[in-house]
Amino acid sequence: MNLASSSSSTDLDGIDSMLDWFGVDKAVKDRLKERNTALTKEDITIDEDHPPAEALGSNISKFKSFFTCEAWESISKSMARLAGDWRCDTCKRSHYENMIMCESCFCWHHWACAKLSSPPDQWYCATCTSKHKKKT
Ligand SMILES: [Zn+2]
Ligand SMILES: [Zn+2]
Repeated sequence: MNLASSSSSTDLDGIDSMLDWFGVDKAVKDRLKERNTALTKEDITIDEDHPPAEALGSNISKFKSFFTCEAWESISKSMARLAGDWRCDTCKRSHYENMIMCESCFCWHHWACAKLSSPPDQWYCATCTSKHKKKT
């Protein structure tokens, strides 16, 4: 039995979308698929103000072998931080989509979780709304 040749080709599943999330050049993509290179920090860009929704919700660790150690450390740290930043306080999922921040406690919620179809100028989460009601 030859274990070295048993690595599966399904490793490439979803890699195109992963590369798009991180704004990787087409030339780099092609080299990468040939396994002629690994992604370096310079190849990757993350828009931290609008992180890719799918990236936050998905397990990118299966693509770890496509990154250099340095690049992987940098990207996994950024992703962990972004996932924390964009965690919805209602559903607890770290999934960046249309989100709104409570003016009072600065927690984030999905519009859908907050039962909003569009964001009002000011919004308070259920916790803060009920606190406020008790006072008045
Ligand atoms: Zn939510
Ligand atoms: Zn609040």
